[in-house]
Amino acid sequence: MTNVEVGDVSRIHLGIWDYYQDGVIFLGCVLFLMIYSLMGLGFECNCYFVVGKKAALIDAGDPKAAMDKSLELNMGINYLLTTHYHFDHVLGLLELKAKTGGLIAAHEADAVFLENGDKTRIMPHLFGSPFSKVHVDMRLAEGHIIDLGGLSLEVIHTPGHTPGSICFYEANSKSLFSGDTVFADGVGRTDFPGGSMGDLEKSVEKLLLLHEKRGIETIYPGHGPPACGNDLEAIYEEYF
Ligand SMILES: [Zn+2]
Ligand SMILES: [Zn+2]
Repeated sequence: MTNVEVGDVSRIHLGIWDYYQDGVIFLGCVLFLMIYSLMGLGFECNCYFVVGKKAALIDAGDPKAAMDKSLELNMGINYLLTTHYHFDHVLGLLELKAKTGGLIAAHEADAVFLENGDKTRIMPHLFGSPFSKVHVDMRLAEGHIIDLGGLSLEVIHTPGHTPGSICFYEANSKSLFSGDTVFADGVGRTDFPGGSMGDLEKSVEKLLLLHEKRGIETIYPGHGPPACGNDLEAIYEEYF
């Protein structure tokens, strides 16, 4: 049930049972979830294409890969979700907005910096690229639900790496899309402008509690390979 491949098609989750079949949806089943991992593209940022009846892209680090996947699946992109404002996670937002009309969503604490095009926070210079202001259509907050039809993504506010860093939790498959809050081998940096080690510690505690109460089977981070919810304890012990 919980096999996760690092690669293109990572999981097809059909509610009752899972199976792997390169990108083909079994249409006989009402409840389905597909998570396509677009791993380490662009500036090494992982992006995830999450498909229910509607589709969401989590982080826009490689607009071409996202468009290719969208066309291959013959699905539009209804939501362009952003885990936080760093350039490698948001660089494709404007292009994808223009091509798909998807709604751009970010936590309210990070949205203001995207809308001002704040270079000290977004840091496009680290990647040698320009950045233009982005209008945020949906300002997210803790508990906000993005309904994809048959499945939903719940916003978990996890400040620390940035003030408006968020994770998305999908309850059917117990998946957590963790952005740069936690990785398989550690936690996000807090030494960039807007970072806070104290906040990050509280955020990882919050994820531990989520795992305890509701379960986290797979963590899909913003960089590197996936992890398990059970890895959170060791990460917490090592870093805090
Ligand atoms: Zn980051
Ligand atoms: Zn990152």
